[in-house]
Amino acid sequence: MTTQAATTQSEALFSRARAVTPGGVNSPVRAFKSVGGVPRFIASAQGAYLTDVDGHRYVDYVGSWGPMILGHNHPAVREAIAGALLTGTSFGAPSPREVELAELVTELTGAERVRFVNSGTEATMSALRLARGVTGRKFIVKFRGNYHGHADGLLVEAGSGLLTNAEGQLGAAAPSSAGVPEEYASLTLVSEYNDPAALDRLMAERGHEIAAVIFEPVVGNAGVLIPTPAFLAALHRVKDAGVVLIADEVMTGFRLSLNGATGLLGLQPDLRCWGKIIGGGLPVGAYGGRADLMDFVSPQGPVYQAGTLSGNPLAMAAGLATLKELQANPGLYTQLETYTGQLAEGLKDSARAAGLPLTVNHIGSMLTAFFIGAPDIRTYTQAAPSDTKAFAAWFQGLLGRGVYWAPSQFESIFISAAHTDTELNATLEAAQAAFQEVNS
Ligand SMILES: *Cc1c(COP(=O)(O)O)cnc(C)c1O
Repeated sequence: MTTQAATTQSEALFSRARAVTPGGVNSPVRAFKSVGGVPRFIASAQGAYLTDVDGHRYVDYVGSWGPMILGHNHPAVREAIAGALLTGTSFGAPSPREVELAELVTELTGAERVRFVNSGTEATMSALRLARGVTGRKFIVKFRGNYHGHADGLLVEAGSGLLTNAEGQLGAAAPSSAGVPEEYASLTLVSEYNDPAALDRLMAERGHEIAAVIFEPVVGNAGVLIPTPAFLAALHRVKDAGVVLIADEVMTGFRLSLNGATGLLGLQPDLRCWGKIIGGGLPVGAYGGRADLMDFVSPQGPVYQAGTLSGNPLAMAAGLATLKELQANPGLYTQLETYTGQLAEGLKDSARAAGLPLTVNHIGSMLTAFFIGAPDIRTYTQAAPSDTKAFAAWFQGLLGRGVYWAPSQFESIFISAAHTDTELNATLEAAQAAFQEVNS
């Protein structure tokens, strides 16, 4: 593969964008701040590939940060959206596809009720309001380095773009963002992921005041972190104190299995949040779970939550087509896992050959290659000392060779159904050259 140097068109667009949009992007990680260089402006996407405005083609491992599990511009999804388009784009009244998607989601996940919103952020925010409404309690618990969207009370020790922009440093002060009043942040208690004793202690002291514990059932937003069985057991114990257990499956839902991490790991959360894949590349989020809890949501119950564009017919059509495609191809999850496993082994081999320490965490179609030698990375605290400079150099080495990795050390990459041996081999070849380059 040749090195792709010219970024004239991306540079021109980035400069125009910066004049009219903060930082030139509409979501922070896209700015390439932690890896440097000019963010590539994308002209089109097809299957496993992105093509930028300078005409460079990349094997894509970002997958729009999760939704594109079928690959870009999948014909079934495209045709479903096109079909919906002919009948109007928004009604502000209930419509058939909302019922169909809700029925499919409840069938696949076992959730008894589901409410659609427009993003993962809205889903977690609404689920927490519901938990507070049901319990009459104020406090919530989240875990260090987990990300649940950008609602005020969740920007506390938060992962994803907040880690990226701070180059791996979590803010020592409670809110991870300016503009979040301490009073809001003080209602969010933070515990260490994969530390069952710390969670048990917190529950023993304050369980009676806590409305909900929200968690990423497999973390993707601090890089991939896999939960231990002991931690999962401690999470389920919080229910004994009347606490609502909320699994944030915005990333893992329909990705780790048809029933997400809940199905894969045998979890029993009270409520779940979805996003990303549930909208098939259009803006959809959802929350759902037990009927006795969900019946607190307006207009059935007293917890208010609404949305002008919620249940949008184009978005519902894209979500339905995506979930139906996944349901019709159950072997897909094994295919994705096989690719991911081979990618992990190949990366470990070529990093070792280049004399670089690397720890690869992966599960299903999610993977993070941490630039650190460690026997086991289970918490953000363990991942944080990763060599972000070496990662940035490796990222640029990949990009120049036509591989679009996630532009941050502390993110998961995503494999899609469109990734085949061709892409795997091209990726491993590029990765090997990039590792050699980093260590020279
Ligand atoms: C992406 C993500 C969110 C936020 O979803 P948006 O659609 O970006 O608002 C919340 N939780 C998790 C686990 C996520 O990965």
